Amino acid sequence: MTISQDDWDEFGFDTLAVRAGQVRTSEGEQSEPIFPTSSFTYNSAAQAAARFGGTEPGNIYSRFTNPTVRTFEERLAALEGGEQCVATSSGMAAILATCMGLLKAGDHVVCSRAVFGTTVVLLDNFFGKFGVETTYVSLTDYAGWEKAIRPNTKLLLLETPSNPLVEVADIPRLAELAHAKGCLLAVDNCLSTPALQQPLKLGADIVIHSATKYIDGQGRALGGAVVGNRELMAQVYAFLRSAGPTMSPFNAWIFLKGLETLKLRMRAHSDNALELATWLEQQPGIKRVFYPGLASHPDHALAAKQQSGFGGIVAFEVAGKDEAWRIIDATRIISITANLGDTKSTITHPATTTHGRLTAEQKADAGISDGLVRISVGLEDVEDIKADLARGLSQ
Ligand SMILES: *Cc1c(COP(=O)(O)O)cnc(C)c1O
Repeated sequence: MTISQDDWDEFGFDTLAVRAGQVRTSEGEQSEPIFPTSSFTYNSAAQAAARFGGTEPGNIYSRFTNPTVRTFEERLAALEGGEQCVATSSGMAAILATCMGLLKAGDHVVCSRAVFGTTVVLLDNFFGKFGVETTYVSLTDYAGWEKAIRPNTKLLLLETPSNPLVEVADIPRLAELAHAKGCLLAVDNCLSTPALQQPLKLGADIVIHSATKYIDGQGRALGGAVVGNRELMAQVYAFLRSAGPTMSPFNAWIFLKGLETLKLRMRAHSDNALELATWLEQQPGIKRVFYPGLASHPDHALAAKQQSGFGGIVAFEVAGKDEAWRIIDATRIISITANLGDTKSTITHPATTTHGRLTAEQKADAGISDGLVRISVGLEDVEDIKADLARGLSQ
């Protein structure tokens, strides 16, 4: 059977992941169909008028709605525990649509300093041009968040865990602060996915995703999504419908099939990452390992409470850039790329790639040292991943 939104409460996460939101045609297909069509047709001129007039629900044009995209949206909304989801062409388009839908000139945003680099570029270089100002604060400096909020602050934006240092922020605490000040809290849930953390259930108003990462999980397609209540999502959708960075039906199909195995994959990523992080902590030449699953992580207790797994991102620090590059260059199976959330493990040197644009002072502020290496732990045999790193570590 397919499960409609009225019945979501009756079913568990695993059931919703494989069945929520499925559209069925009269062909009786078992797997979800793809609808690669730009427009939709009507039985009569009167029906066309009713669709355009909004008196009859239904598809008009794939920039507005598409059945495959809707299946993905409903399934992700069910998994995040949100009323509605709006799918977008990329993770950045999800952040763009959220801000365009909910902000206006003169509004102010408070954003964690430890967010995806392009998010900062979007807020400063583009929203800044249109009179939306952003203040950046340290993710776990709760007094700093409170101090940064002004009368015109509309939105608090963060990622937890952050990337690459996997710091963990207390979502209920920041949600309470946001609501006391009349602001919305948006959480980019890219690193945890709903399989490990459901920010809406912890008090956040909006969840943002780059589906490009773990939701696909296999490095094939770009996409994004925003989830929240109907009223907020109507504003986000209104922007998307007019501006057009919508998700293609092909990509929606990839992502909705990705959701079916998301929990299994996130558990396996988390298991491999914990095993690798524990091993890395014991290796000579490693100054520090960053992983919320380790007891040595400052936010370990919070992560254990807030998340049902610690995720696949592990970072560690060696003496300097030469040592970091040597470890990266000695790998044989781990891919050298800044992407994350793939079945294939990836390794990157943030100081000279993702964070290369920052000044030395900004890097120091963000904790991005020259010896920092980040791994997105994939689903290979963990012993093979260890061996791949041991080669460079022992040189
Ligand atoms: C990759 C990423 C984005 C941007 O997503 P795209 O799909 O690349 O546009 C946003 N937030 C986080 C946390 C990301 O990792």
